[in-house]
Amino acid sequence: MTKLDESSPQRLPRPLDEQAWEASLSAALGARVEVRYGRATREVIQLRREPQRIVVRLSGLMASAPPEIESALAEWIRGRGRRGAAQRELDRWIDARLRESARVSPTKLALEPEGEHHDLGELREHLRAREFASDFGAAALPPIGWGRAGRSRSRRSLRLGSFDPFSYSVRVHPVLDSADAPRFFVRYIVFHELLHAALDQPPDENGRRRVHGPAFRARERQYVDYERALAWEKEHIHALIASARAGRGLRLAQARPAARPPKDERGWLQRLLF
Ligand SMILES: [Zn+2]
Repeated sequence: MTKLDESSPQRLPRPLDEQAWEASLSAALGARVEVRYGRATREVIQLRREPQRIVVRLSGLMASAPPEIESALAEWIRGRGRRGAAQRELDRWIDARLRESARVSPTKLALEPEGEHHDLGELREHLRAREFASDFGAAALPPIGWGRAGRSRSRRSLRLGSFDPFSYSVRVHPVLDSADAPRFFVRYIVFHELLHAALDQPPDENGRRRVHGPAFRARERQYVDYERALAWEKEHIHALIASARAGRGLRLAQARPAARPPKDERGWLQRLLF
């Protein structure tokens, strides 16, 4: 990355308002820059070049950008949005802020934790004290709910649970809201997703993320029902995938005979993802 213009005012007080950004970017770029804060959270930085000026729209989280991010933004605009060190630095910082702000003030999501057979909120509370007593500090545990019902298409894989760091929420596949899905297994899925929330980290300098890294695997192996849950998963993977494809909760007695994969698909690896 090239050095920034000496005139770049890096001693501005935080938070940076629109005028402060305009002064900073205009000086660094030697061009007229107009900055507006917008509400968009998906596009943190939007850029439009006009003949006489550069128009920049920023999400409010850029108000707390430290000097090195101020420089990186100028550098990125100067490089015409080229991928490179400046963009990586911006991406990492923004990624970390988005995760942090979701954690501190989760968006109000219409999540339904109470199912017909399993109450995910109750499972989360059960795990809170036993497994995560020292993980979340002052932060709340993520909101949790059942994912949307609908037919799953894949014969080969099924996502039973997910944690989204940017909405700070956990979803569990409705195929598990069934009397045939044992409570300990649903609880294990909830544990796994909460562990993602507890250990969540932004990508490293190279943009890489290890979702199930060594620390994650070590904690997971210590979980009280780990072996039992894996054994149950292995035994019922066909039935889970078949029930999800039928768009209903798990049914073991009926699903079992039909759930055998067709001959030509026996060689395919079937996987549950979470
Ligand atoms: Zn996972």
